[in-house]
Amino acid sequence: MIVAEQKTLAEIDRLVRDAKKLMIVGCRECVTVCMAGGEKEVEILASALRLKWENEGHDTKIVTAMLQRQCEPEYVAELEKQLEGVDLILSMACGVGVQYVAEKYPIWVVPGLNTKFAGGAVEQGVWTEKCGLCGECILHLTGGVCPVIRCSKSLMNGPCGGSHDGKCEVGTDVDCAWALIYERLKKMDRLDLMLDMQPVKDWSKSRDGGPRKVVREDVRL
Ligand code: SF4
Ligand code: SF4
Repeated sequence: MIVAEQKTLAEIDRLVRDAKKLMIVGCRECVTVCMAGGEKEVEILASALRLKWENEGHDTKIVTAMLQRQCEPEYVAELEKQLEGVDLILSMACGVGVQYVAEKYPIWVVPGLNTKFAGGAVEQGVWTEKCGLCGECILHLTGGVCPVIRCSKSLMNGPCGGSHDGKCEVGTDVDCAWALIYERLKKMDRLDLMLDMQPVKDWSKSRDGGPRKVVREDVRL
């Protein structure tokens, strides 16, 4: 899932302060799971801003809304009937959601979150990066451990000389991805894969090749 975290209240205040009627829009998908932009966070943020502005004699009106997904146009269209008088939208979705809302409406749209990475939960309240969306997945070569993101140098052939006791040279709290790959391949009796020299990765399939697109002709309307 996409993992994001909320901007500070001071930063959000600066971004939305000039609005006459502010709408804070949450998303019920990834940002709800990582507790950054779901219904609870939207209502808490709205209350915090109301309280702050009330104390300061600032009179911006705040309304809230929730969308199932901000990264799909049909859900974003549901906002239309709620936008009466709204002159600024604070999107509490990932950067994709912010852009879909901005594309759809002639209203100033600002992000309430910082979109961090594609990852997953390791324990309650802790998420870690797992995939760099590189465009050509090679997990079949590495036992399901991603060297692009989990190796600090994104090495396609590893480990480098810095690995020590299974930890990466960047810090003792960082597992060496190539040590993990080795352990996994050993367990699966596929250590032969470590000996295959991988060529230089084709980064043109990653974001270096410009905005990417996936087209599925079989499901197009
Ligand atoms: S190899 Fe690429 S697509 Fe596969 S997990 Fe790593 S970054 Fe993601
Ligand atoms: S120590 Fe391991 S994870 Fe760190 S850069 Fe070297 S191979 Fe990559």
